[in-house]
Amino acid sequence: MSAAISYERVKEHLEALSMEAALDVLDVVLEQGQKQERTSVEIIDELLTRERDTRFQRRIKTNLRLSSIATPKTLDAFDFEAQPQVPKDLIDELATLRFLNQGENVLLLGPPGVGKSHLAIGLALKAIEQGHRVYFLTLHDLVTRSRTARAKTRLDALLNTLLRPDLLVLDEVGYLPLERHDATFLFEAVSKRYEKQKSIILTSNKTYASWDDIFPDPILATALLDRLLHHSTTIAIRGESYRLKDRKMAGLIPQKRPQN
Ligand code: ADP
Ligand code: MG
Repeated sequence: MSAAISYERVKEHLEALSMEAALDVLDVVLEQGQKQERTSVEIIDELLTRERDTRFQRRIKTNLRLSSIATPKTLDAFDFEAQPQVPKDLIDELATLRFLNQGENVLLLGPPGVGKSHLAIGLALKAIEQGHRVYFLTLHDLVTRSRTARAKTRLDALLNTLLRPDLLVLDEVGYLPLERHDATFLFEAVSKRYEKQKSIILTSNKTYASWDDIFPDPILATALLDRLLHHSTTIAIRGESYRLKDRKMAGLIPQKRPQN
């Protein structure tokens, strides 16, 4: 087989296999390979590495889009000095994603504005960067969607959406009390993920003791907490709202009444 024919054959193979990235760099990689007297194995390795890298980057982009994270907040953008209640060491450890690989949960508790959603999204973005599938939604979204999906098939589809990702972020648990069928659906999602050893990051403005107020039935609340907490890390943040802090510093909210 002449060199010209085999070059065309390689291009054809790459095209047939939809290896667009490898196809794009084929000429450059071959030329450089010849110049630097690389072995054929080295050249093949270079070509496949380029293809895999491109595919991985594309997967990250897709996973980010499918995650439904609207405002990507990174852990790098989190100001740990402003929130000394959040142990940076612990967040760094969570950012290694060991918890996710072991199917453990992370629960972020505290009043509004202390950075619970920011940290949850920051960890979720880490997971996406590593190629994991993530799904983010608020409990309010979950309840609204489960109420509209009355038909069994649509409810199953929603349940699948909650079970499929490697990481589920359930934001803002506790802002609204749940009715029995909402709570039952949430319980089903949480216990199925528990059985599959798939992680959840949950944020809540309620302490565990007051989960009875959110749930129509204390037994259901206990059973849910049981599964969530079995393998988990809880971070309770008691600091003040970051939003208010900023506005106070900007003088928009007077900290003391002006003296007349
Ligand atoms: P929560 O979910 O606890 O109500 P958020 O995570 O939504 O609070 O935080 C409110 C806003 O303040 C967000 O825009 C968030 O990015 C920002 N924020 C909160 N804490 C910090 C922090 N320590 N460093 C940087 N930004 C923060
Ligand atoms: Mg929040």
